[in-house]
Amino acid sequence: MGCDGNNQLFPLAFALTDGENVDSWGWFLACIRNRVTQRRGLCVISDHHPGIMTAFADVYLGWSEPNAYHRICMRHLASNFMTHFKDKCLKQLLCKAALETKVEKFNMHMETIERINQDALSWLEAIPFEKWALSHDGGRRYGIMTTNMSEVFNSVLKGARSFPITAFVQLTFYRVNSYFAVRREHGASRLASGEQDTPYVDAKINANVVKTSSHEVVLYDHFQGLFHVKASRGSKKTSFGGRTYCVNLREYGCTCGKTRIYGFPCSHILAACHFRSIDFRSFVQHYYTIQSYFSTWAPLFNPIHNEYEWPPYVGPVIVPTDSMKRVSGG
Ligand SMILES: [Zn+2]
Repeated sequence: MGCDGNNQLFPLAFALTDGENVDSWGWFLACIRNRVTQRRGLCVISDHHPGIMTAFADVYLGWSEPNAYHRICMRHLASNFMTHFKDKCLKQLLCKAALETKVEKFNMHMETIERINQDALSWLEAIPFEKWALSHDGGRRYGIMTTNMSEVFNSVLKGARSFPITAFVQLTFYRVNSYFAVRREHGASRLASGEQDTPYVDAKINANVVKTSSHEVVLYDHFQGLFHVKASRGSKKTSFGGRTYCVNLREYGCTCGKTRIYGFPCSHILAACHFRSIDFRSFVQHYYTIQSYFSTWAPLFNPIHNEYEWPPYVGPVIVPTDSMKRVSGG
């Protein structure tokens, strides 16, 4: 499963195998690289299955860095952690550390884990931080921490698994086609109505715009686009608030790290853009645009039909207009 710019599932590939093992995972991942996508810089979020780990370690399969970046699902990590340490409080601390966007706060949670159980810290330190902690991720996983979402697709295929193989494959094909057809239409109508970003990221940016009203912006340099932005103390009990961040518009950076992690502007960058009357759109990654969303769902499925000769066509000849060509081009 993949994820589109509207934070919804994108069905990428299906396979029927005799089970989850080293061979079947290696075969499946090799097929993805051969048949589905050769794109570099992909991020793959999965559990720690030995078959997946072996495939990622094999430089000839095309899944090693920088071709791809492997990240671990937080839910699976937490469940493995529980098997070892059987401590709910420690598990909560692990999840807090994983979800934290700032390195200093991540370190703080790790120190707490160390104080409670030194072995738990060593267990966690044995797994590279970038694989499971958002603060060290570098923007590869777009803030997606678990594979929970991919399991939602099971409902789309509900009932299909009990069918004989041919019917199972056909039903999967038909349902995926319908899934695409609905989203293709959404993409076309959103594009026609002039929307710029997907509803998912639009809502996120709007929420950040609301936060900017409590930010205080100080300009340091015009040309560099250098600012400090002071966020007032939040209302949440646990909120750190009252912090000051350094924004560098030229380098697309803010010391809160969120713009890099999520691919859309944090409230501090939005406040700095507003201060200088700069359009914030260059800080939104193109994956989140309606144009990308439309392109994601544009590919067509060829209808399956019985193998007989089409009767000779005697109706009018339809010449595609420019607008039809635009919509069907992908
Ligand atoms: Zn920021």
